Amino acid sequence: MFSVPFFVALLLALAITQLANVVTTMYLHRTLSHRSMTLSAPLEFVMRAVLWLTIGIDRREWVAIHRKHHVFSDEPQDPHSPIQKGVWRVTFGNVVYYRREANKPETLATYARDLDQDRWERLVFSHGMVGVSLATGLLVVLFGPVTAAIVAVVHTVLYIFLGGCVNGLGHWFGRRPHDNKATNLRWLALLTCGEGMHNEHHEYLRSPYFGSTRWDLGAGLGRTFARMHLAVMHESTRFSRDNDLVSIGG
Ligand SMILES: [Zn+2]
Ligand SMILES: [Zn+2]
Repeated sequence: MFSVPFFVALLLALAITQLANVVTTMYLHRTLSHRSMTLSAPLEFVMRAVLWLTIGIDRREWVAIHRKHHVFSDEPQDPHSPIQKGVWRVTFGNVVYYRREANKPETLATYARDLDQDRWERLVFSHGMVGVSLATGLLVVLFGPVTAAIVAVVHTVLYIFLGGCVNGLGHWFGRRPHDNKATNLRWLALLTCGEGMHNEHHEYLRSPYFGSTRWDLGAGLGRTFARMHLAVMHESTRFSRDNDLVSIGG
């Protein structure tokens, strides 16, 4: 029935989801949203291409929604607060709240005004469905349609669900070593390249580290890329509580 064993298809889906998580946390989150890292031009291009192929997310939408979340954390204007909307709704329906906010032009105009649309963005990377369709087509060629369908569905559901867990559970229960509304969930951090250390992140928004590198694979990878001269970790902001995000937006 399957051109590769079922568990191989699952492993492939998990690997693609982890790749998408690496790009989400290192590029969309730490580099673009908070400017806590800088990527070299070749690495940034690779990450944009991976983003296009694995998730097809518009970087301006992600950054704008995320910054707005920080500005209004768990207040009525927060795009995906479990306190406001209910923890299970956000955990399982995060994508609905994401799309609802992404469709507001004023959100992008206010919170992503520093992200310009370069030629690559206009011609290629803003067309997310093209990238995802290409990648799915490649899976069909390599592994056949059944395996491709399993990989595509498992990856998509898992990626969306893990994001929902960070936004929902990560503002609901878990450790709160710092006095903010977010929580640390180590098991979630291990599954999301560090994003689960959400209490650490809310405390030091401009830090490239989400607490200890033990639970934050994203920071560990960032350090590795820095040693290879492919990225810069802005160490000076590691414990900075200068959390002003509106000014970052332009
Ligand atoms: Zn953030
Ligand atoms: Zn948060």
